[in-house]
Amino acid sequence: MDNINDMKSLKHQMKKKLCLICRFKSNFFNWCNKCKLKHFQFNYGEFPSENNEIDNFLKDIYCKIEKSKELIEWIPYNELEKITFIDEESSKLYYASWSNGYICDWNENKLNWSRKIKENQVLLKNFENLEDLFKQNVSFFK
Ligand SMILES: [Zn+2]
Repeated sequence: MDNINDMKSLKHQMKKKLCLICRFKSNFFNWCNKCKLKHFQFNYGEFPSENNEIDNFLKDIYCKIEKSKELIEWIPYNELEKITFIDEESSKLYYASWSNGYICDWNENKLNWSRKIKENQVLLKNFENLEDLFKQNVSFFK
């Protein structure tokens, strides 16, 4: 009986677009930004890149996204395998194998991302400095 009432309450909250965790106003995947940040930290740690600018950029994206396509995910270096140069001359482009798969959707039942492994290769780009990363990211990540 409790489960039925819980499900009704859950559906009611989802219709009202309230956070499923704290019932504050939510946006994408029915969580508020505060709960999304907790989820981010649970998945990636509080400071995944160990660089304030990059970590703040990632957290900002994580809170602002309204579609899974807009998400920029932190991939720890140790999850990448078979890193290979594409451009030998400039040494700036590489590809690597990443077996986790990219995020394709939000799974409301598991309260986590759904992943899809279409191709397990990812493109890596080496930036000289953070300014280049943030200057180029607008076009590079589209
Ligand atoms: Zn919340």
